[in-house]
Amino acid sequence: MSTKNLEYNSKKIISSESSRKRVIVIALDGVPYSFFPAIGEMNLSPILSSLHKTNKIQTMTTTLPPVSSVAWASFLTGVNPGVHGITGFVDRRQEGYAPFVPTAEEIQVSTIYQHLSRIGLRVCSIGVPATFPPVPINGILVSGFLAPNVERCVYPIEEIETLRSFDYKLDIDAWSARESDESLITQLPKTLSARINTAIHYLNKEKWDLFVFHILETDRLHHFMWRQMKDKEPKALELFSKLYGQIDSFLKNIMERLTEETALIILSDHGFTELKKDFYLNRYLIETGYLSLREATVNNLEGIAPSSKAFSMAPGRIYLHLKGKAPNGNVSNDHIAESLRQEISQSLENVHDPETGSNVIQKVVDMREEWNLTGFDKSMLQLPDLIAIPSPGYELKGDLSGNTLFGTDRFSGMHSYGDAFVYLNGDDSDEKLDITDMAEKICSFLGVKQMNKEPNLT
Ligand SMILES: [Zn+2]
Repeated sequence: MSTKNLEYNSKKIISSESSRKRVIVIALDGVPYSFFPAIGEMNLSPILSSLHKTNKIQTMTTTLPPVSSVAWASFLTGVNPGVHGITGFVDRRQEGYAPFVPTAEEIQVSTIYQHLSRIGLRVCSIGVPATFPPVPINGILVSGFLAPNVERCVYPIEEIETLRSFDYKLDIDAWSARESDESLITQLPKTLSARINTAIHYLNKEKWDLFVFHILETDRLHHFMWRQMKDKEPKALELFSKLYGQIDSFLKNIMERLTEETALIILSDHGFTELKKDFYLNRYLIETGYLSLREATVNNLEGIAPSSKAFSMAPGRIYLHLKGKAPNGNVSNDHIAESLRQEISQSLENVHDPETGSNVIQKVVDMREEWNLTGFDKSMLQLPDLIAIPSPGYELKGDLSGNTLFGTDRFSGMHSYGDAFVYLNGDDSDEKLDITDMAEKICSFLGVKQMNKEPNLT
């Protein structure tokens, strides 16, 4: 999205300091709704437990696929991934096969930050995925996951000094954490502590109408330690207790600031479950004849043969090799495309784990229906035709280099489908909520007009 014309005049503040409505959003990445009873049993966070016991935590539906950058892009825009265009951590453009990491520039719709900035409200956002590069807003924007480094993650750039003074980090060093538990155990609380201190600084110092703080450390903890926590390994329990304890103290601090005029939203973007095995979906498409490679092993989609009928990108996104959607696309007939969709779906829904006999894939979803895409596909990225939803425990990978269907992983936790939660104070309705409803809720709390959700064609 173009960043021109997005300089905002902070003198346009529309309401007076004393009476203005404000919203705080605390994002707990990857904390499942179904985990709340265990949060109570393990005494991880008295605040989260008490909210759950008083029925204030609700289940919330989220995006397909349940990937952080996809889900937070839906939080920011109020639309599904088929409309905002971000469908995974890695994507490809229609003119080629080379993979790239989509950024906020690929988001096809205005964000709530841009909407509020245009009407003169101030936004302070720290660490939210899918906000890199940090476009100018009326306020402060510290980009989150997938920003390459702290130096390039903040608007306005002068705020880099503040981040440095708190030793702010975007994320833990996941490679080092993969090497040793000790590295994970040292890094996680330290990174979270620096980020919480930064958030408290901006809560105190900045004028804001919307304040959003995203905690990525819960997702990291769950990827590395979910099984060990379920198995009650002392090292894992200690780290859960420490990290959730830090979050609890921070939430206590936030609760003490709440007034009649301040709404609080706490939410997650997806759930978590134990990871049992990786399943290499492209290898399956090769073995069933839908995909062929130019050479025995290739590193990415640039190596697929022109005759291929379909290919996949993680997690579980399946693309027909359609004429007009890829340089060598050869599926040009609607009837052929339709039967391919059905064949591939049925085939995948019948894959069983040879060791256990259980289904690897629960269901394959036709994304035209799921995203209501009739006649709409303006993105320069090809949207997936199908998305495979795995049975709990099977992580769907997009690698092309291996020659086995199943593999193991250093991680012991994986994102689950659905099972996100939301807490909304100041909203007593019991409607079913989706992550795409949050932008509208924020506008309602602030008492401002709703945002335009039409694709931004500039
Ligand atoms: Zn994750």
